[in-house]
Amino acid sequence: MPPETAPKRIAIRAGYVIAFDGRGHRLLRDGVVVIEGDTILHVGPRFDGRVDETVDAHDRVLTPGLISTHAHISGSPLDRSFIEDRGNPQFWYSGLFEMLPVRSDAQDEEAGRACVDFSMAELLRGGVTTVMEIGTLGEYVVERAPHYGIRVYMGQAFRSGRWLTKDGKRVEWEWNEEQGRQGLRRAMDFHTRWDGAHGDLVRCFVSPSQIDTCTAELLKDAKRFADEVKRPYQVHTSQSVVEFNEMVARHGKTPIAWMRELGVLGGNTVLGHAIIIGGSSWTNYPDGDIRLMAEAGCSVAHAVWVFARRGVAMESFGRYREAGVNMSLGTDTNPQSVIEAMRWAAVVSKMMERNTEATTAAHAFDAATLGGARALMRDPGSGEEHRVQRKRRGCGPCLRQRPPRRGRRARARRRRRRHPRSAPGRR
Ligand SMILES: [Zn+2]
Repeated sequence: MPPETAPKRIAIRAGYVIAFDGRGHRLLRDGVVVIEGDTILHVGPRFDGRVDETVDAHDRVLTPGLISTHAHISGSPLDRSFIEDRGNPQFWYSGLFEMLPVRSDAQDEEAGRACVDFSMAELLRGGVTTVMEIGTLGEYVVERAPHYGIRVYMGQAFRSGRWLTKDGKRVEWEWNEEQGRQGLRRAMDFHTRWDGAHGDLVRCFVSPSQIDTCTAELLKDAKRFADEVKRPYQVHTSQSVVEFNEMVARHGKTPIAWMRELGVLGGNTVLGHAIIIGGSSWTNYPDGDIRLMAEAGCSVAHAVWVFARRGVAMESFGRYREAGVNMSLGTDTNPQSVIEAMRWAAVVSKMMERNTEATTAAHAFDAATLGGARALMRDPGSGEEHRVQRKRRGCGPCLRQRPPRRGRRARARRRRRRHPRSAPGRR
């Protein structure tokens, strides 16, 4: 490459750097991150090599980009406040059956586009660099992604039916199976046209809308396509007591057990919400779904706020994580803030477990970064999300500046350097 087109080498000096060493995150005080083009060359306390430019961020936190694995940015922020302090006990306070259809029908495409622009700016402002969007304005989302420089996974939504309530007491499902099949075909065409667009800034995933509005065939055909193209497969599931009870009545098993029976729970499966499950006090149905999720190796997109603001809690983030379920965080509706999602995920889990240590800031941060990357099938170890090059000797993490020193005192020194928070007064 001729020198005039070589990417600039930029050093960012920050008061706090959240660094990744290939295994976990560490908080580094007064660190430096060196980038060249789209590659992170170095993370550590010092950098002695040549740089073209230095950015002073001494009063900032420099962190890996946060990931929202579940969002509806073409309807947000129109959902703000509207469904926060109202709820119908008939539907166990879910707003899906009365409020969501009214709100969706009240907005036109122009409003949807304005929402996309608003939300992309909002996501970036809160440190989100990758979002999984589920909706129907895919082409506009794809068009706007490079304008904001946000990485998008677009899931064009489709389904075989819809829910409605005529009397506010009972939920009914209206079916149009042909519409579902056409929707999948459109999503497949969309994938062919846009997956990898804008220099791979945009990718697609496969998103049959909801577990209770899709036929078994549609769910299975969509999963087969997701497996073929090696992209995530996300379905809203276990998101209301009404849905849970309906699925138990239809199939004699929980939504998650039914998914397993269909063969659609797998390593690329992302469960949108998965809150109202067997073992939760909301269902009073026997335990077992958490184990099924962990055994399948699937991910959960936990959008804590959209439920917590209506008094509905996952039971619990800590329990799912401990069982081995890959936990990621979603924003769903406004605010499109993963920082808020981290806060609420940790706090609600502590409350559910009545245990301060049930979910720590580190657990929530890992869900917002590593868990999200796993859900997106971007293996953090491969360095696609955390492109941190290993240092000279090729063995140690790049945080280590010097060859290892022998002896107990040296080990203690290294430990203090790796965990600076436990050693106040030391830089
Ligand atoms: Zn959703």
